Amino acid sequence: MSAFWTESDYDDHELVEVVRDAKSGLTAIIALHSTHLGPGAGGTRFWHYGDPADAMRDALRLSRGMSYKNAMAGLPMGGGKAVILAGKDNSKTPEMLAAFADAVDALGGKYVTAEDVGISEADMSTVAKRTQYVSGLPVEGEDAAGGDPGPFTALGIFLGIKAAVKHKLGKDSVKDVHVAIQGTGSVGGGVARLLAKEGAQLTLADIDAERAAALAAELGAQTAASEAIMSVSCDVFSPNALGAILDDDGIGRLDCQIVAGGANNQLQRPEHGPMLAKRGILYAPDYVINAGGIISVTLEYLCRSEKAPCDINEVRKRIALIPGRLEQIWHDSDASGESSDQVADRMAQKLIGR
Ligand code: NAD
Repeated sequence: MSAFWTESDYDDHELVEVVRDAKSGLTAIIALHSTHLGPGAGGTRFWHYGDPADAMRDALRLSRGMSYKNAMAGLPMGGGKAVILAGKDNSKTPEMLAAFADAVDALGGKYVTAEDVGISEADMSTVAKRTQYVSGLPVEGEDAAGGDPGPFTALGIFLGIKAAVKHKLGKDSVKDVHVAIQGTGSVGGGVARLLAKEGAQLTLADIDAERAAALAAELGAQTAASEAIMSVSCDVFSPNALGAILDDDGIGRLDCQIVAGGANNQLQRPEHGPMLAKRGILYAPDYVINAGGIISVTLEYLCRSEKAPCDINEVRKRIALIPGRLEQIWHDSDASGESSDQVADRMAQKLIGR
């Protein structure tokens, strides 16, 4: 592994811990970027990395992203993230999760974990047997905050797309607005359903083509091949699958006026934000528009220690603030000439005291 502290992704993280447990075969990284606003909160990713340096990079970037996301969502939480380095066979055992839970517990509440890619609600329930510093657990009752964050993330993105359409296209509704959606999983599928309800015209793509086709049939939408979705001529491109898709090639292929979606770390490098702006494309900074899930997960966590209302309406109320935050960013961006991602980063850094 190359020295991670020389990596550009190392950003004065408060703590970076490599966890090894020979008995269970666990190798994990826990990265705490900032606890300025509260405990570092962010999910655990379970992923097979060809090179462990990529796992370190992911932990560093994702934990910084969580600092920014939590701060911009007005949550009393800092930023952290964990990655568990899966073996080639991707096997995940209860013993591994137990060893991971012990490492989280040993941090004494400085880090609060939840689900991320490759980790299910059931996995988090296993982790919760050995540490209280967990969220995203199953909740009882329809009106309780918490549980699967996907639908809450989708709601925030839907509201953010509406705000972008208003800002860029001057329209109060997404009726007949053409949105191309990359990824039709938990988040992308939810966004598609909400947009369809309001009469948007949709083109859907997923590497699981059957998944996209099934949703398209349900919603009366069109489909595109997953390699082609970024070139579809549309009003809004909504990335809800992978990060780093906004690179030189991806931005060059876009034929849209707005990029607004839930995938984390959409910009491959910092210069890609200004590159989008130069092309006249309005960009909704990912960690601002996709905060719905963390809002729900955090309120669930705080509620358990009776520090915040547990009501689902409180979650919805806070998600409803996302469009206003985006408006503020676009307004400042228009006024200063800085790209929207740069404006958002600066706002977030100020909030976390950097
Ligand atoms: P998911 O696994 O439910 O869905 C992702 C979908 O993307 C899958 O259907 C997958 O087949 C598809 N996909 C993968 N690669 C693709 C490609 N190259 N082209 C087209 N489709 C592709 O995951 P999710 O929970 O919906 O998360 C989607 C994105 O949103 C991720 O980047 C995640 O980090 C981010 N995110 C999720 C949440 C949440 O609450 N779930 C919150 C914030 C951010």
